[in-house]
Amino acid sequence: MGITSGRTYGTSRPGNIFNKEWPDRMAEDALSAKNNRIVTYLRLSVTDRCNLRCRYCMPQEGVSFVPHERILTYEEMLRIVKVAVHHGIRKVRITGGEPLVRKGLVPFLKALAQAQGLDEITLTTNGVLLEEFASDLKAAGIKRINISLDSLKPERFQLITGRDYFHKVMAGIEAAQKVGFSPIKINVVVMRGVNEDEILDFARLAVESPLCVRFIEFMPVGRENGWRPEAFVSIEEMKRIIYPFRPLAALETGRLDGPALRYRPGEGAGEIGFIGALSNHFCDRCNRLRLTAEGCLRGCLFSDQEIDLKGPLRNGADDGRLLDLIRLAVSTKPDNHLVLHRGPRKCARIMSSIGG
Ligand code: SAM
Ligand code: SF4
Repeated sequence: MGITSGRTYGTSRPGNIFNKEWPDRMAEDALSAKNNRIVTYLRLSVTDRCNLRCRYCMPQEGVSFVPHERILTYEEMLRIVKVAVHHGIRKVRITGGEPLVRKGLVPFLKALAQAQGLDEITLTTNGVLLEEFASDLKAAGIKRINISLDSLKPERFQLITGRDYFHKVMAGIEAAQKVGFSPIKINVVVMRGVNEDEILDFARLAVESPLCVRFIEFMPVGRENGWRPEAFVSIEEMKRIIYPFRPLAALETGRLDGPALRYRPGEGAGEIGFIGALSNHFCDRCNRLRLTAEGCLRGCLFSDQEIDLKGPLRNGADDGRLLDLIRLAVSTKPDNHLVLHRGPRKCARIMSSIGG
C-alpha cells in the first residue's frame, strides 16, 4: 500500500466540536462563526520584526517596521487574550515576525500561561535564537514548538533567508530536543526551482529522527513574495515524490491540531505533515483568528478585512466592547475558500506582519 487517503483536519463534525468543547449552558458565550464553527484558536503575532528575510515572506530591503508605540504592549495582549479565552479560545500560538526577537517575551509567556481556561500555548520560530531560549520557553509553559527550515543546505538556506544562520537554527533544534520539546515540528515551505529537490531529504529526516516535518504549500501573501503559478508545488505532487521512498499511513488529527494532514512514514521515528492552504482548502472548517502585532484582528489570512482592537483598547473599551469587536472579526470569517473562488490573490500585508 502506498499513500492512504488523507484526512482533513478536525476529526469531529461541527456539531460535536461544539458539544465536546462547550457544555450547553456555555453555548451562547462561544465565538461561533458561519458553518456552525466554534473559534477556539488564536494566532498571536508579538512583533512584525525579524532577524531573517525569507524571500517568500518579506521584501529583502526597504521593509518598514511598525514603530514601537503602535505595537500592542504585552499588557494589552494579555487583556485581549483573557477576553477571548473567557469565550472559548483554547489554544494560542505565539508567532511574528520572529517572536524571539521581542524583548520580555518569556515573562509575558509566563503570565499568559496563567490565563484560566487556556489549554495550550505553542510557538512558531525560525530557530535562530532558540539555542539561547529553549530552556526558558519550556519553563514558561510553551507546550509545543514549530521551527521553520526550508533547506538542509547551508548555502541555500542563506539564499532563501538572506542570512548565514543555518548552523544557529540546527543548534536551536538540538537545544529544543535536549530540553524535551516533543513533538518538534519542522515547517518547510516548498517552492519549485528553489527547494523542491529537497523533499526527499526532509522526508528522510522524519524517518531517521523523531521530528515532525510539515511541508507547506507556497502561498501568495504580500504583494511581492515571488509567488507565481510555476513556483507552486501542490501537496499531491509532494506526496507523489515521497511515495516511492516510504508509504504514508494517515494519522488521526487531534482537537487542537491545525490544518495539517498527518502521516507516519513507514516505520520512521517521526511524522510527515502537509499543509495545503491552496489545494486542500479548509476555510469552511477553519476555527482560528489572527491578532497582528499592531492589534488588528483578522478572520482570514487571505482577506484584508481587519478589526482594530488597539484603538478601542487605548480609549478605555471595557471587556464587553472588546468581546463585541472579537465577535465582529469572527463574523468576517468566510464560509468558503476565497482563494479558490477568486483565484490566487495577494493580500496587502506581508506574511511577517500577520504571523503566518
Ligand atoms: N518567524 C517565524 C517563523 O518563520 O517560523 C514565525 C512567523 S512566520 C510568518 C510563520 C510561518 O509562516 C513560517 O512557518 C513560514 O514558513 C510561513 N510562511 C511565511 N510566508 C509564507 C508563504 N508565502 N507561504 C507559505 N508559508 C509561509
Ligand atoms: Fe522572518 Fe519567519 Fe518571515 Fe522568515 S518566515 S522572514 S523567519 S517572519
